[in-house]
Amino acid sequence: MVSTATTFSPADSEAALASHTGRMVLTPADPHASPQVGLLVEALVETGFVGERLEMSEAPAYRIGPGFLSLLAFAGCAVSIASDPDGQGGFCHIRIPPSWEHPHLLVGRNTRAPRCIGCRARLVDWRERAAHWASHPHAGVTCPSCGETRPPWLWDWKDQGGFGRLFILVEEIFPSEATPTPALFDLLIRASGTGWRHFYVQD
Ligand SMILES: [Zn+2]
Repeated sequence: MVSTATTFSPADSEAALASHTGRMVLTPADPHASPQVGLLVEALVETGFVGERLEMSEAPAYRIGPGFLSLLAFAGCAVSIASDPDGQGGFCHIRIPPSWEHPHLLVGRNTRAPRCIGCRARLVDWRERAAHWASHPHAGVTCPSCGETRPPWLWDWKDQGGFGRLFILVEEIFPSEATPTPALFDLLIRASGTGWRHFYVQD
């Protein structure tokens, strides 16, 4: 996370960081799975979840498509979706960064310590361990409470973070404001041959 506000001169950079609402992350349920991105994008465009490609700096980004709203279920009744990149603040779009070589941990300021799936104890020092996991893809984590050892992705991260090789990032969605519909999961499964799940992170 970028927290060195002094390196950004314009005040809006700080405002932009502070205003990150959140993103919904779609990723294969198996953190080792790395489906072919071309086929996925094709399916997402066909069904209208994804619209035209946006000219943004980093990873491929797309406008939301005409089927976007019908493929998500919204919790609130007053849904305001800004889809115009020229507007102030966040707007709704979809990014698909390149696949990671190994399961990668995606977290945000909303991420809490994961729980052992055996005894429910929290791994309180997970942030210190995260760098080690990044360079040791087969690391096991021994539960300080019950002594069982499991890879970090087999800990319970709830819907506040998680491991994967391929992530579809839906900006900007407040955690739990929207959830994928069964139809969205169906199309992801059809395009990839693997099951999917979702979680939320906030920068
Ligand atoms: Zn345990």
